[in-house]
This record gives sequence, structure tokens and C-alpha cells, in this order.
Amino acid sequence: MKAEPESPTDVDPDGRRFALLAAIGETLGHSLDPTATVQGIAEALVPSFADWCVVDLIGPDRSLRMMASAHRDPALVPEIARLRATYPPDDRHHPAHPIYRAIDADGVLVERIADGDLRSRAVNDEHLTLLRELGIGSHVVAALESRGRVIGAISMIRRPEREPFTSAEVDTAREVAGRAALATDNAQLYRAAQEAIALRDRFIGVASHELRNPLAVVQGHWELLGRRLAAVTDELSPDSAERITSSMTRLGQGIGQLRRMVEELLDVRRITAGGIELERTDVDLGAVVRQAAVETGSAGEDRIVLHLPQEPIVGAWDRGRLEQVVTNLLVNALKYSPPESAVEVRLAQVGEVVQLRVTDAGIGIPPGELEAIFEPFRRAPNAEEQHYPGLGLGLAVSREIVAMHHGRLWAESAGEGRGSTFVVELAR
Ligand code: ADP
Repeated sequence: MKAEPESPTDVDPDGRRFALLAAIGETLGHSLDPTATVQGIAEALVPSFADWCVVDLIGPDRSLRMMASAHRDPALVPEIARLRATYPPDDRHHPAHPIYRAIDADGVLVERIADGDLRSRAVNDEHLTLLRELGIGSHVVAALESRGRVIGAISMIRRPEREPFTSAEVDTAREVAGRAALATDNAQLYRAAQEAIALRDRFIGVASHELRNPLAVVQGHWELLGRRLAAVTDELSPDSAERITSSMTRLGQGIGQLRRMVEELLDVRRITAGGIELERTDVDLGAVVRQAAVETGSAGEDRIVLHLPQEPIVGAWDRGRLEQVVTNLLVNALKYSPPESAVEVRLAQVGEVVQLRVTDAGIGIPPGELEAIFEPFRRAPNAEEQHYPGLGLGLAVSREIVAMHHGRLWAESAGEGRGSTFVVELAR
């Protein structure tokens, strides 16, 4: 029998193989959507390499999910779907369906099917008619394997009137399966990552919102309790009064920490959902720094040393947001350095810009982390290993706020254990 024009297996097989792999390579570069990726592969194979093609993914329960199909006669594509819906490949049937055999062998299955075989495989007349209509002569089914596990199979089928697959073409099919597996796996990983990110963002939104109210109740009662205690302090022994005051201070610190975390979560949510609005007024940065230092140091710490210029440094900035940035840098400097060490804050006009430098003598930052720590949820390994508390959000939010002011925020450190300096640069 003469081969059809598209399948001259004897004419330049290498050229055809390269053309096919190139066409597949092109579809792979186009999409990270798993369905579109496998559909592109199926379409690249038909009609030049196979008359029809089906790509299946296997689930944990061994069920097959048809991800893509193509037929040289587009009118028959719905018939493939009908075949699969009405007569799904059976795992328990003997001999098992070629797709399961290829998957279980983690390899390539090559078969030539005569009409008599087809008859014995069909479960009824309708099934047989469907199989004949689609056309099954020779076929290659290749398992899709990626990262050591089989994720599905690709079936490449030629009609009975066409030349069967040569052994060189079976090698090509194997190569196609390798690429398809990698691309499908990547696309699936990408989709899983996207879904995880969406879930995380939803969780952050709900959690931060729902935590706010009980936190406000706790804070309100803590303040009330403070006032009531002050009124009865005289009636307590000095020892009890001191112990209660110390507990109240610790409680206040904990509440402050929780509030900052919840606010950070809300801010990350706001930033990803479309940004925060700045309210610009004339702001003296020196006053902002002083205020932040008082609030941060109010927990009985006297470690912040300010070096501020005499004259005010005024710009059109958002006071509340800049205070948030400075507070965040001060809280970090205090947290990541020894309890007795000083935190130096310098504010100066440098040429056209204003620079604020917050320097501590703490755990420092490994060189490879100097940029990474500004990503949301990113924490340097030295901070994690030493169990400093934190979510890894403050710097991400701070950098966003500074960028909205058209300024820059960056970190400097000579390395682990050698302290850190965070620099905010703003145009006035
Ligand atoms: P958090 O402190 O809650 O982890 P941040 O976004 O404020 O989150 O900081 C991100 C990471 O940057 C920290 O986990 C830590 O690894 C590093 N970092 C921030 N400030 C300092 C500092 N002053 N000294 C050393 N490392 C720091």
C-alpha cells in the first residue's frame, strides 16, 4: 500500500523528526496552562505523525483524565470524547487497556491492530463502529514520566490504511513523550503554585480582618485594666504592685506586637489588591523619627540614639506611612541585636535627597539576602535559625511605601554577626 503524502516515512526521516520536535517546542513556549500545553502537543502531532492523538493524565485513584485530543478529521474530535465517555479505558479488564499497560510498564507500547483484534476489544457493536470510524491500525502509547513518577500517557494512533510506525518513529514518539511530560509537569506545578498563592492571599485577607476585632477588645480591656489598677495601687503591697505592673507591661508589648502583625497582613493585602493611598502634607521627618523612637522605646528600652539635624527636614510626604516605615526599622533593629546594644539613627540632607540611616550591632544579613529580605514572607536564614519572631512582611510593606514616595529603601551589612544598616532615601 502506498503511504499518504503526509507520511512518507522513507523521505528524510530526520528532517521530519526535527520539524515535529520544533513544532512541539514552539507550542511548549506559548502557555503555562496545562490544558493548552497538552492540546498544543496533540495538534502538533496530527496529521503529520499520527492520524489522531489523545493525552491522558492519571489521578491518584488511577482514573484517567483526557486532557487533549486531536484527529486529522476535525469532525471526529467529538467522537473521541464520546468514545472515552461511553467506553472509558478499563483498568481491571484483561488484557488491560494499552494506556494502562504503557503506564504500568513506565515505557512505550507499540501495537499493530488488525480488524479482528478490534472486534474482540469492542464491548458491543456501537463501540466497534466508533473504533472503526476513528481508525486504529498501528499505535504507540508512551507513558509521561517526570521527576520519577508517571503522570499520564500520550497515545499516537494511525489508521489501518496508513504505514505503521517505524522503529525510528517510535524513538521520536518516546522523545515527544519526554518533552510533553516535562511541559505538563511544569505547567501543573505552575498552576499549583498560582492556586497556593491565591489561597494564601485569601487566607491573609480573611485572617487579618477577623483578628482585628478581638484584638481591639483585648487592647481596650488592657487599657481599662491599667486605669483601674492605677486607682488601687495604694492598696497593694509594693511587691504585688510591681509584679502586676510588670505583667501589664509584658501584656502591652504582646498586644503591640500582635497589632503590628495584623496591620502588616492587612497592608500586604491592600498592596496586592491595588495599592495604598498616600495622604501627603508638609511633614518634618525629624519629628516623625522622634515620635517613632518614643513609641518604639516606650517599652522601657533606652537603646535608640538619635542624631538629628537642628533644622526641620520638611517634605510633602505621608506622615502616618513614614512613621510606620521608621517604626518598623527601629523595631527590627532592636529585635535583631543584643539587648544592651545601641541603635543609631542618623538623619541628614545629602545633596538633593534626605537620608535616614538606622544602624544596629546585631545579627547582620548574609550577602545573598540583602535584596531578598524585601520580598513578602521572606526571612533570612540567620533570623529563622535563631527563632526571632516575625512574619517577614514589614520590609516588603516599608519598601512599597517608600517607593510610592518615589524614594528608595535598601539594606547594608558586612555579613552575619556584623550588624546592619537600613537606609531610606527620599526626595523632598
Ligand atoms: P520580620 O522581622 O517580621 O521577619 P521584616 O520584613 O521586617 O520581617 O524583615 C525581613 C527579614 O529581614 C527578617 O526576617 C530578617 O531576616 C531580616 N532583617 C530585618 N531587619 C533586620 C536587622 N535589623 N538585622 C538583621 N536582619 C534583619
